[in-house]
Amino acid sequence: MNQMDPRATEARDKTAVQATPVMAQFLEVKAGYPGCLLFYRMGDFYELFFADAEVAARDLGIALTKRGKHLGEDIPMCGVPVHAADNYLQRLIRLGHRVAVCEQMEDPSEARKRGAKSVVRRGVVRLVTPGTLTEDTLLEQRSSNYLAGLARVKASGELALAWADISSGDLAVMSSHSGRLAADLARLAAREIVVADSLLLDPAISQALTECGAALTLLPASRFDSITGERRLKEHFSVSALEAFGNFSRAEIASLGGLLDYILITQVGRLPHLRAPRREEPSGALLIDMATRMNLELTRTLTGEKAGSLLSAIDLTVTSSGARALASRLSNPLAEPEAITNRLDEVGYFHNSAAMRAKVRECLANMPDIERSLGRLTVGRGGPRDLATIRTGLSCAWDLGDQLAAGNGLAGIPTNVEFRRTAIGEADRDLIECLTLALADDLPAFARDGGFVRAGYLPELDHNRQLRDQTRQVIAELQVKYAEEAGIKGLKIRHNNFLGYFIEVTSQSAGALQAPSRAATFIHRQTVANAMRFVTAELAGLEQRIAAAADRALVLEQEIFEKLVNQVTTQSSVISRIAEAIAGIDVAASLAELAERQRYVRPRIDSSLTFDIRAGRHPVVEAMLAKSASGSFVPNDCRLIEDSSRIWLLTGPNMAGKSTFLRQNALIVIMAQMGSYVPAEQAHIGIVDRLFSRVGAADDLARGRSTFMVEMVETAAILNQATARSFVILDEIGRGTATYDGLSIAWAVIEQLHDGNRCRALFATHYHELTALSARLPLLSNATVKAREWQGEVIFLHEVVPGVADRSYGIQVARLAGLLQPVVSRATEILKTLERGETSANLKSAFEDLPLFSVSRPTGRELKRNSQSQVEIRMASISPDELSPRQALDLIYELRALLPGNP
Ligand code: ATP
Repeated sequence: MNQMDPRATEARDKTAVQATPVMAQFLEVKAGYPGCLLFYRMGDFYELFFADAEVAARDLGIALTKRGKHLGEDIPMCGVPVHAADNYLQRLIRLGHRVAVCEQMEDPSEARKRGAKSVVRRGVVRLVTPGTLTEDTLLEQRSSNYLAGLARVKASGELALAWADISSGDLAVMSSHSGRLAADLARLAAREIVVADSLLLDPAISQALTECGAALTLLPASRFDSITGERRLKEHFSVSALEAFGNFSRAEIASLGGLLDYILITQVGRLPHLRAPRREEPSGALLIDMATRMNLELTRTLTGEKAGSLLSAIDLTVTSSGARALASRLSNPLAEPEAITNRLDEVGYFHNSAAMRAKVRECLANMPDIERSLGRLTVGRGGPRDLATIRTGLSCAWDLGDQLAAGNGLAGIPTNVEFRRTAIGEADRDLIECLTLALADDLPAFARDGGFVRAGYLPELDHNRQLRDQTRQVIAELQVKYAEEAGIKGLKIRHNNFLGYFIEVTSQSAGALQAPSRAATFIHRQTVANAMRFVTAELAGLEQRIAAAADRALVLEQEIFEKLVNQVTTQSSVISRIAEAIAGIDVAASLAELAERQRYVRPRIDSSLTFDIRAGRHPVVEAMLAKSASGSFVPNDCRLIEDSSRIWLLTGPNMAGKSTFLRQNALIVIMAQMGSYVPAEQAHIGIVDRLFSRVGAADDLARGRSTFMVEMVETAAILNQATARSFVILDEIGRGTATYDGLSIAWAVIEQLHDGNRCRALFATHYHELTALSARLPLLSNATVKAREWQGEVIFLHEVVPGVADRSYGIQVARLAGLLQPVVSRATEILKTLERGETSANLKSAFEDLPLFSVSRPTGRELKRNSQSQVEIRMASISPDELSPRQALDLIYELRALLPGNP
């Protein structure tokens, strides 16, 4: 958490008065940016001092040194080279720091003109914070980087959340309230949230903010004043009334205003291009809380990896902006049938025409990331390569427009496609032409060194470059001439920043230049180890010509750069619309491609309360099975009918596929409502307003919660919040406590879901006793995942059918997992005894009959038998015909290692 008011300058350190001029300047700048590490530019380095140096040296693993004294104490210092600063910045930001970058605002020679002791003027040009990054090196290419602002209007208690991705220009706002704030924050997954410090006094808000995992930046409440916010927004978007963008509430204006203000502070006045604010209706989004998102592994797996998540299974986008848009859709599914239908129409359009889709995707594959280049150019951090990106992107947009036009013949172009095609058609050919003419083929990363303007673009530039380069040639000739005249073979003309061009000869041969006949021409300037350095008037003259030509060329290139940047940024709204349209087309075409490759179908979405999936599949498990060639996925129906079976109670053996079934149906809801086709033969879904899942079990020891406590907290949240329109999956509720406690809790939860929440729900359990509830609860149906027992082995069929499982086959599964044979035998005995004892009284006597130890305690021979059975288990899993010779040999070693006495 970071408390800051970057403009506060009153806190100037009194000690500055006694400091050296440079230190006094440092302390003064530093006082304006509390809570930030100050990168203080000194020549080719950013230096850090005092506590900042200690923190940075520790976190970056760089050397901590000293620089002079302050108030009698050594000043700790460390530094990073300017050319490698991005890398260090990235590491510091990842660790949760904020960095104020303080640059030299004038050439040191300017400062010297003011007197020998004058300090170079410096100023902070930017605050680098997690939510305000624009550099490719600091950003993840395929993920958005949201900065959010949260505001509350004191009088009404109204709460609103605004967010922006300043690298792409997206800006949006939505009303919220403390009951849904956690879910709203979870869907946004902002990197940084700016909030009025007073809001943290509200425990519900404070908890939601802490749990969402974003970096928190606290600002004084005055920065979120709605009246100032309104003025700021009107000024920025040059409108006289905000109604043009939507009917914003006071809280929404306050959050947008506060956000805009913070962006201005961090960019030190250079506001990036932001699109007009979109207002999202709270009812327009499917709400999914953080626990559910994590459990369903939407964008990352529970272990934090991308591979294995739903996103990685469905992402076939070919552009970075498309990938970001797809991730954002997956994190923000909709809850309005019409908006979803529009998206599905668009996917359907590309699905229907494979040939056009292929061409469009081919074209998109050449598309660079114009969104982010535009972002950098508007905040003054762009370079020649960003201009080239805009050029290439816009010309690709034309090609894309042509490909889309080829679809004209297809019947009924959907509204979204039409809208995007119109946006793409706005790409300005003159701008493309202008950038093409101006930019060279090979471009440097930065404009400051020049060399990016194409030869032939500006005669004056060509002339100065020629002059500069020819003069270099003249210097080379001069070196030959001097060497010959003086008879010194090793004479060299060199250059450094201190002397400029000079003649260098070894100390032994220097006498030839110092001879009386030459002493007037060759003026001695410096003696270094084994060498002497001289200058001549001729050389100095040439140097001036070179410098003047090079300087002029650089000035001309900078002017051209500014002009081109200006041409691009004046069109930023259009370019930004084009970028958005391209991302949208990429998402739609990629989802169509996915549907085609994976045989997904278009879901029917309406406002009913139906949930009818025929032959549904789990998109990730199916893909995994296909890759590993270990069998194919068994599709299953799930039919929750409003007035006959709204809740399914699912029983079945361990490992049968209960969790997979629960999750696949939740994922199908998300995919359908994000506007994607779904893995099924047929799907009809009545809009879901909130999706809840309670699956898997994990401690949250950091927050002092045991596994069971986490389970109960999540279950309580579901029962408190699920409406009749919600969809709930609950896996093995009550397993983390004593059997009867757990069973009772599960029982009561089902009753509450059935009579109280009345939502659609799938409930998986091993408490077979619960299946009796269906006789009492009319909307509860029993379903089971089929398995068959064959010669003592359980065979999983993964088929979900109506009915009740006879047992859990837990012991067979334990044996499959390699549990020691004696333990398995003992468990079988105990199970038989338990199953005989139906009441607690005869259970007790049954236990008394049970021998104290297993009848089959492990003897040496049995241990061997156990190992043999592990060998048998392994052997049973082998398909000999599929083994290569090498795999067969490895297998022999593996089997031998399973025998006792063999490590
Ligand atoms: P437990 O009760 O032990 O938690 P479970 O019934 O929840 O088990 P899952 O974890 O869903 O079982 O599934 C076990 C494994 O079975 C999965 O990892 C998957 O590989 C496979 N599986 C599940 N469902 C199917 C299916 N429909 N088709 C093919 N394989 C499946």
